[in-house]
Amino acid sequence: MNAPLEGRHALVTGGSRGIGLAVAERLLSDGAAVTLLGRDDAALAQAAAALAPRASSARVQWQAADVTDPGAIGRAFDAATRTFGPVGILVNNAGQARSERFDRTDAALWDAMLAVNLSGPFHCIQTALPGMLAAGWGRIVNIASTAGLAGYAYVSAYCAAKHGVVGLTRALALETAGKGVTVNAVCPGYTDTDIVRDAVRNISAKTGMDETRAREQLAQRNPQGRLVQPEEVAHAVAWLCQPGASAINGQSIPVDGGEIMVG
Ligand code: NDP
Repeated sequence: MNAPLEGRHALVTGGSRGIGLAVAERLLSDGAAVTLLGRDDAALAQAAAALAPRASSARVQWQAADVTDPGAIGRAFDAATRTFGPVGILVNNAGQARSERFDRTDAALWDAMLAVNLSGPFHCIQTALPGMLAAGWGRIVNIASTAGLAGYAYVSAYCAAKHGVVGLTRALALETAGKGVTVNAVCPGYTDTDIVRDAVRNISAKTGMDETRAREQLAQRNPQGRLVQPEEVAHAVAWLCQPGASAINGQSIPVDGGEIMVG
């Protein structure tokens, strides 16, 4: 089947760049109509224009909203649904990774990391799930992280939020099992996007380490000795959305070259 997701509406949060943009491109190639969601209208418009040659522009649209704002999410999903129909595929990808030593992690940083990385997916799922249950079909894919499966120093708030995403994935998967809706997480290792570029700059600023060396150190976490590419994460997401993945439910799948081995 060339277009296994034809007739499906996929909404990708954080779809303007990085992993989210790669996911959007892949789902479009698989035949879905795609809504990109992020906070920056201009960046979303640019991303949609970049995707347009891949598919008819009639299959790409965008909505600006902050995933931490449930009211804005409700309005954005309503508008997206009016054009492309109910959201059948929800990819909760929007996220931020701020690092800080635990003793310097204040309540504001803690709250911000939980709001965007954990409560954001919660608000989006609450909005999209009723339509999926009514249709008897749905795919929810949460982009967690290897930091959802293991501890990493200096990112306690991010790590707690991503562990929360894995827990949410597991619990909800049991509630929707038997109703045609699967819920899974994809857990990338260090992936070549703005998040890693910011982390490299941060490490270099804090330690004085040369940026090339800092980037190499992050890449060495991966047993393959390299950063993961956004397209590799997108491939795993697209696979979970395929009709043939209907028995895969409640899983958190590392895409990290073997850094984390589950089981
Ligand atoms: P990027 O920084 O490249 O992209 C993040 C995206 O999320 C942007 O589109 C951004 O758009 C959007 N976003 C951020 N905050 C919000 C918000 N409050 N509401 C709506 N949209 C928002 O990051 P990546 O592509 O690297 O990361 C994507 C996901 O993958 C994240 O959840 C991240 O935690 C996870 N991940 C990334 C890894 C990596 O090494 N890169 C490793 C493991 C997991 P805008 O700012 O315009 O709103």
